[in-house]
Amino acid sequence: GPAGQSRQVRPWKFQGTEYRALACFPCRDKCALVPGVEPQGSPTSLCLGESLAAPSEHSVAAASLRPFPGAISSGAGGSSLQGVQCETAAKAGMIIQRVVLNSRPGKNGEPVAENFRLEQSTIPDTIQAGQVRVRTLYLSVDPYMRCRMNEDTGSDYLLPWQLAEVADGGGVGVVEESKYDSLAKGDVVTSFNWPWQTVAILDGSLLQKLVPQLVNGRLSYFLGAAGITGLTALLGIKEKGHVAVGANQTMVVSGAAGACGSLAGQIGRLEGCSRVVGIAGTDEKCSILVQEMGFDAAINYKKGNVAKQLRELCPGGVDVYFDNVGGDISDAVISQMNQNSHIILCGQISQYNKDVPYPPPLPPDIEKIRKERNITRERFLVLNYMDKQEASVLQLCQWIQEGKLKVRETVVEGLANIGAAFQSMMSGGNIGKQIVSVSK
Ligand code: NAP
Repeated sequence: GPAGQSRQVRPWKFQGTEYRALACFPCRDKCALVPGVEPQGSPTSLCLGESLAAPSEHSVAAASLRPFPGAISSGAGGSSLQGVQCETAAKAGMIIQRVVLNSRPGKNGEPVAENFRLEQSTIPDTIQAGQVRVRTLYLSVDPYMRCRMNEDTGSDYLLPWQLAEVADGGGVGVVEESKYDSLAKGDVVTSFNWPWQTVAILDGSLLQKLVPQLVNGRLSYFLGAAGITGLTALLGIKEKGHVAVGANQTMVVSGAAGACGSLAGQIGRLEGCSRVVGIAGTDEKCSILVQEMGFDAAINYKKGNVAKQLRELCPGGVDVYFDNVGGDISDAVISQMNQNSHIILCGQISQYNKDVPYPPPLPPDIEKIRKERNITRERFLVLNYMDKQEASVLQLCQWIQEGKLKVRETVVEGLANIGAAFQSMMSGGNIGKQIVSVSK
């Protein structure tokens, strides 16, 4: 709601425990904390927010439009790790490590680890009223960050990262010191604009408090299956997939062994698809999809002919296509889609290192097929559905706890390796969600 205006917060129950939202999410910076909902004893908040008025005003990405308060400047600038002594290190303050954007890959270039640089820096010893000091546990690297590496992100909801400035994205950490009423030492918190640094001073009102029990203590899941990734898979299918129990639908998922894709195939099945086929980049990924994640079949797009294999594996055609990649793979799938079928336009990663608009238009022959067969291809952006976040995260957590949703992660250790983790994810090095573990 509007700043300063208090509103009712509806408590919610999960597995017998009552939770209360602390403040409106994701627009918490615009919303005053609601009196009377401060933590009362046991776990109080996986702050998932409700009654979000206009999603456009409240989108998470809007947060990236503001200067990030956690990127506390280190005065005269941080010293490079290679540097011996520097002014700032000599000053009072806590020495931390951080990762800044070192160079841009260019709109038509592949990102490399060297586009990022690890630095030593300092943060103040003391925090101000309203602030918390957090230690970073996990950071997320995501395909959308490729756009933030460009000077012009091509998107009105994403701000570019600036050269020599600390990068940021989804993160989870633990509160070490708090001068913010609703957070205490030991609380586990998250933000979509977590700075890529080991320890940070953040504005408490920009953080969401998490309930570790929801994910059996697997805190990195809040960046994946129980976070934006899981929401993308679930809400993409619900909002754009037109999946119905008993409709005997065949779903194809591209980027199927990645974070969104691996969940999307499983959720497609849970929601009622009778056949689920994945497309991924290695034999190992394909066998995990079939043996572990319950896909009926999987195609290694780097081997053999995708169109031919699809014809064999989807004899009744394709009814729902969860598209993470675009390009040739998608052209092959769309050519085999049925009349009145649906594309969930989740992402187009095969086009992210090219200077093309989003979403990229289909080639004319494929667009003709799409139109003739009345195949929907509406843009999907998870941030537009944050009013459904609370119920959806609960659904995802329940499936995870029941073993119905198998979760895979690829974890890279150390902030120093975040650039390499990003490069690897962009080029298929990950199975499931790519996570960077920063501290234990
Ligand atoms: P991810 O799938 O875990 O990682 C990216 C994967 O893309 C890689 O592992 C790689 O797997 C595949 N890939 C890379 N280049 C490719 C190419 N040229 N052709 C085919 N596959 C390629 O990443 P994610 O976070 O789950 O994101 C998946 C997609 O969802 C992305 O397009 C992302 O932008 C989109 N997304 C959309 C929303 C939304 O709101 N719409 C939200 C989150 C994510 P292979 O080994 O199979 O090549």
